[in-house]
Amino acid sequence: MLEQPYSYQRRELHEPDWRRFPGWAGVTGEEWASPQWQRAHCVKNLRQLRQVLGDGLDEAFCADLERDQRERATMSMLVPPQMVNTMVPGLAPSSASFTEALYADPVRRYMIPVFSDRRADWPSHPEASRDSLHEAEMWAVEGLTHRYPTKVLAEVLPTCPQYCGHCTRMDLVGNPTPVVAKHKFGLARDDRLGAMLDYLRVTPGVRDVVVSGGDVANLPWPRLEDFVSKLMEIDSIRDIRLATKALMGLPQYWLSDEVRAGMERLAATARQRDVSIAIHTHVNAAQSLTPAVARAAKAMLDTGIRDVRNQGVLMRGVNDSPAQLLDLSFALLDEARIMPYYFYLCDMIPNSEHWRLTLGEAQQLQHKIMGYLPGFATPRIICDVPYVGKRWVHQVSRYDTVRGISYWTKNYRTGVEADDELALDREYSYYDPIYQLPAEGQDWWRSQAGQETLAAVGAAH
Ligand code: SF4
Repeated sequence: MLEQPYSYQRRELHEPDWRRFPGWAGVTGEEWASPQWQRAHCVKNLRQLRQVLGDGLDEAFCADLERDQRERATMSMLVPPQMVNTMVPGLAPSSASFTEALYADPVRRYMIPVFSDRRADWPSHPEASRDSLHEAEMWAVEGLTHRYPTKVLAEVLPTCPQYCGHCTRMDLVGNPTPVVAKHKFGLARDDRLGAMLDYLRVTPGVRDVVVSGGDVANLPWPRLEDFVSKLMEIDSIRDIRLATKALMGLPQYWLSDEVRAGMERLAATARQRDVSIAIHTHVNAAQSLTPAVARAAKAMLDTGIRDVRNQGVLMRGVNDSPAQLLDLSFALLDEARIMPYYFYLCDMIPNSEHWRLTLGEAQQLQHKIMGYLPGFATPRIICDVPYVGKRWVHQVSRYDTVRGISYWTKNYRTGVEADDELALDREYSYYDPIYQLPAEGQDWWRSQAGQETLAAVGAAH
């Protein structure tokens, strides 16, 4: 009998032993379980990474990382111990193959990117941009993106307990890096949140609020509870989704007594008012799902909220095979009761080409993961098309595979097209990474880049 392309196997979760790292050899279980200890011991720079990993870390790797931070990184480094511990889970840094394994590690590849990971030919696509989804253009009030008719995104703060190298909000989120100065909110936090609530009180067409950032785990709990409680007082709001990668990156926070008790209060109010509260998290690799993460997800479900769902990002070298996506989805579903929901194509931000997949690759992946998971838990692979919104990868209307340009249409007006009669007839473009195109397509992009250079020189004269 022939084998199936994917073979399902239930795998027990495993918390790697942090004491294999010289810098954490004496850390107790109690310290590890403390959110304060985790926050205070985040790895924020190369010096701290060296302190944790000890002499096992190769000098060439360190130089590679340093160069990336100087010349390419769009996000500063911030990795909680919980996440560092899921990198190269089976090896101690003293092992001869540690650095090689660290280079290949899926979590390292997006949390601690190095210069040699990136493309030298096209580090950025010519159409890449900061705020590539144009969220700030669609702010109804500062930080509140009104892109879809019935739902809004509330960016309640610009920080997270962890910074991901590929962050789509690299324009706003995190500390400045040598190559990216960050946009700053103009309003003070409480004024901004107040303005969001005021807007929603007079906009009854909105029923669904994604409370995001940043990561809501960085908003002091009483402030978050107050904001969500006030959202629930607005009759038209039926769905509230709290976005927190920290459910995986800092599960200790979501397991704390203060947060569990607060979430129970919110869930009780939500039930009384027939509002659904869900947590949306962001797990990209099966090895990130440890027993602590599963406990945090279950603790949140036990408070009575509607669901915990996962929105991962599809990235080359991280999770770009059907087996990786299915292993992750089964681990989420079976071991943590987290619903696999979306995998996004990595957005077109600067210096992200090495992570990005072509639309064709994403369509193939979607095809290959069908039929194994229950239908309700089969993640959809999504292209977030600038000025359009989320589209399943098979919804493309035309696709030029030579130049790597896909064309998309939409069926509603975003916040910037209220008076644009042609918005629904227009096609909007999305672009594959150029180095993946056939030679003819790559030549075409090179000639375009050449023309732009000539035009720029002409303009300068
Ligand atoms: S947790 Fe989310 S918002 Fe924060 S850096 Fe990562 S991707 Fe960006």
